[in-house]
Amino acid sequence: MKTILRSIGVAALCAASVSAVAADDYPSKPITMVIPFAAGGPTDVVGRIIAQSMTTTLKKTVVVENTPGAGGTIAAARVARAAPDGYMLFLHHIGHSTAPSLYRTLPYNSIDSFEPVGLVADVPMTLIARKDFPAQDLKELIAVIKKDPKKVSLANAGLGAASHLCGMLFMSAIGTDLNTIPYKGTAPAMNDLMGGQVDLMCDQTTNTTSQIKGGKVKVYGLTTSKRLASLPGVPTLSEAGLPKFEVAVWHGLYAPKGTPKSVVDKLSQALQVALKDPMVVERFAGLGTEPVAQNRATPEALRGHLKAEIDKWAPIIKKAGIYAD
Ligand code: ASP
Repeated sequence: MKTILRSIGVAALCAASVSAVAADDYPSKPITMVIPFAAGGPTDVVGRIIAQSMTTTLKKTVVVENTPGAGGTIAAARVARAAPDGYMLFLHHIGHSTAPSLYRTLPYNSIDSFEPVGLVADVPMTLIARKDFPAQDLKELIAVIKKDPKKVSLANAGLGAASHLCGMLFMSAIGTDLNTIPYKGTAPAMNDLMGGQVDLMCDQTTNTTSQIKGGKVKVYGLTTSKRLASLPGVPTLSEAGLPKFEVAVWHGLYAPKGTPKSVVDKLSQALQVALKDPMVVERFAGLGTEPVAQNRATPEALRGHLKAEIDKWAPIIKKAGIYAD
């Protein structure tokens, strides 16, 4: 027994010193932040803003790399397989909690394959249309759709994307299916919407605020329960006629499972600094994106939130009956 205890003690000491060395030396080279959608979209924009500030704090470049496809699950699988040394991070959104219900099989586990670093931001979505779409408000939109649903197209960033979730809830709320068109992110989807190739999209304000303000797209409502200071005059979808319609996007930062705690803590502290950085606060505010409070930018808070969101969305997705293989 004594020998076992002694060897457990030695192992614990070794692990502690490995992790202390890891934290002291870390980071000694650039860090890659994987984004699961196309460049220029809302997740990418949030990632790049955070990466810029974390670069200053960590004194090593945080390089953003886009790995789009399959609604974010290709990027998640890539990071889940990466070395747990703190040099590959993953910035995702609510989709990390809906993918386990949407996909029958995934090559990773949203909880067990990652070390949460912290929550990053809360972001509302907006339901928008191409500028010349013949409906001025939500009531008219629903009437146009009901007249000929097959004629109306709805863009999304793939099964598992927030735009997919929001679109799915919208179709379910109005009891009508639309012609859905998947993209590798909502940046290319927005280009097609502005070019008139697709009619509707639900997307984060991070991507839609300037297009709404510039009159380049039509907006029918916000997906959150409160109006937004940065988009005065835009009603919530709930107010506009879809009671209780709510999708609140949140972003979280992760490392691969097994990343030493000391490294995760260092990353979490750098994230907390970023969320108070005036550059980050100002840029987020202009995009209707709210940095989370310091006590939510922690591994514990993200772990709890992810679990709660997985549990929240599972029955809703099951009821909607939408799966991928
Ligand atoms: N906003 C997208 C989504 O629908 C993803 C992106 O391009 O950031 O999840």
